[in-house]
Formats: sequence, C-alpha cells, structure tokens
Amino acid sequence: MTDICEKCGLPKDLCVCEDIAREQQRVKIFVVKRRYGKLVTVIEGLDRKTITSLAKKLKGICASGGTIKNGRIELQGGHLETVKKCLDGGGYQVEVVK
Ligand SMILES: [Zn+2]
Repeated sequence: MTDICEKCGLPKDLCVCEDIAREQQRVKIFVVKRRYGKLVTVIEGLDRKTITSLAKKLKGICASGGTIKNGRIELQGGHLETVKKCLDGGGYQVEVVK
C-alpha cells in the first residue's frame, strides 16, 4: 500500500506540500503599544525550532530584553527596522504589519 498525502491526495514521494508550506511561511512583525505607552516588537510565524536562538540573536542586536510567548517573540521597544533587516538577511519571508 502506498502512503497517500491527506492534503493533496498524491503519493507521499510525489507530494510537495511540506516544501510549499516552508516557502509560504511568512514571518510577521509588528509593534504594539502596551500600558504606559511602552512599545513592544512582536515577531510571529517562526518555526519553533529556530525561535529560541533567533530570540537570543535579536535581543543582542536590538540590545533590549525580550521573551518568547505563545510561539512568538516579544522584544521590548520598537525595533521594526532592525528586526526586519535581521530576518531578511536570514532568508525569511518577512511581512511588516502596520
Ligand atoms: Zn501533499
């Protein structure tokens, strides 16, 4: 019996669903205003495997604190441009949400 992909109905060795999913993965970044007018830069849509190391890298580049919450990175401060440049350089599909 051949394994059939549930998504496209093709045999698993012909299926490209996973490749497409990776190419279509879009990282969204946006800035939200928290209490007392504090800005937080949110990065979402990241792979769980890379989120920890990326959070560390971004905290270093932006020289600010940050946390990982619900699968997204929250950086203290408004760092839209810096984060975008860093992710662009890493080959991510980045979308800035305003
Ligand atoms: Zn498929």
